[in-house]
Amino acid sequence: MVQKVHVNVGTIGHIDHGKTTLTAAILAVQACRGMAQAKSYADVSKGGTVRDETKTVTIITSHVEYETERRHYAHVDCPGHADYIKNMITGAAQMDGAILLTSAVDGPMPQTREHILLARQVGVPHIVVFVNKCDLVDDPDIIDLVEMEARDLLTKYGYKGSQVTVIRGNAKGALEHPDDPQFSGCIEELLAALDTEIPDPYRDVDKPFLLAIEGVHQIEGRGTVVTGRIEQGLVRAGDDVEILGLAEPIRTVCTSVEAFRQVLDVGSAGQNVGLLLRRVKQDQVCRGQVIAAPGSILPRRKFQAEIYALTKEEGGRHSPFFNGYRPQFYFRTTDVTGDTKLVGKTEMVLPGDSVSVRIGLDKPVALEPGTRFAIREGGRTVGSGVVTEVD
Ligand code: GDP
Ligand code: MG
Repeated sequence: MVQKVHVNVGTIGHIDHGKTTLTAAILAVQACRGMAQAKSYADVSKGGTVRDETKTVTIITSHVEYETERRHYAHVDCPGHADYIKNMITGAAQMDGAILLTSAVDGPMPQTREHILLARQVGVPHIVVFVNKCDLVDDPDIIDLVEMEARDLLTKYGYKGSQVTVIRGNAKGALEHPDDPQFSGCIEELLAALDTEIPDPYRDVDKPFLLAIEGVHQIEGRGTVVTGRIEQGLVRAGDDVEILGLAEPIRTVCTSVEAFRQVLDVGSAGQNVGLLLRRVKQDQVCRGQVIAAPGSILPRRKFQAEIYALTKEEGGRHSPFFNGYRPQFYFRTTDVTGDTKLVGKTEMVLPGDSVSVRIGLDKPVALEPGTRFAIREGGRTVGSGVVTEVD
């Protein structure tokens, strides 16, 4: 049997517009076809908790799964606005595409706007719109208006608003009558849109090679070996690679790929490996640098980011920070100190806030939009962030 392509999606949008109801409705409709396990609204909304990559931020989400003929979907639904923000900034549940809900009664609201903006900043590549609660609106002109507002808002934040698929539906009806085509039709349309509008995601192995160095070892008679987990891509003996970050870049060749004392033909994303490097001395390379396919990523000092300051309860600061704040920024395997500039009208950042900032690092680090980091003070994590723009 051919394995179905796996795709990560989730519901976003203003509170009470029907995200959880729609999530339960998708399960109910697909359960009728044997392609999901039905869950009640209460079970979906109860959810569970996940930790982000740095294992510091706890996010309440509901993870559900369903299938279509072509695909397997993992879908996240968060209960509260703050959980969406944290989720998107920390990448606790990265989405290949999002389902943006807007109620036909209210149209886009402040959280609708904020979720679109964040989705754009953290690199959610595709959005499908579901105008919900159409059963409560008799005048089709009003629904046209809501659809237009949603398209305009998407365009404003850099999505192709005029081209996105907009589905009109009634999630509550579909949840209550999943086997009645009159009600399940909107769910079928939505799933067809997900199948076609969200392209098959790039798998990590298809991306350019990148490994964050965790250790450096000198092997008698052989040379310098760096160890770490391959974050993305593939590496083979004989490949040209670059050592990047913290110091001047070095171009070299990986002469052997090894794991558990065995020589590998190829190392691929997810594996822990050791790489033997040609003519590189032990003191020319260190933890915190990355080894990457030449030209695929650049070391940088300055960038823009979206950050979330942990609350006191989450182990964060007890007091706000201000313009010029100088913590350490933890990228992959190391801390680098840097300056924080607040942008716009922000004057201070309280624990629990999420804001846009400009960061200037003391040393360059290989990063690009979408790279995630932790903010630390003396080894304690006080925040989480994602790079949104590089200079
Ligand atoms: P969330 O905060 O976005 O997750 O919204 P919920 O899914 O919790 O829905 C909020 C309220 O709207 C609940 O009382 C739902 O029953 C109701 N609701 C959701 N979808 C529809 C719909 O299509 N039609 C109607 N009439 N009510 C709906
Ligand atoms: Mg909800």
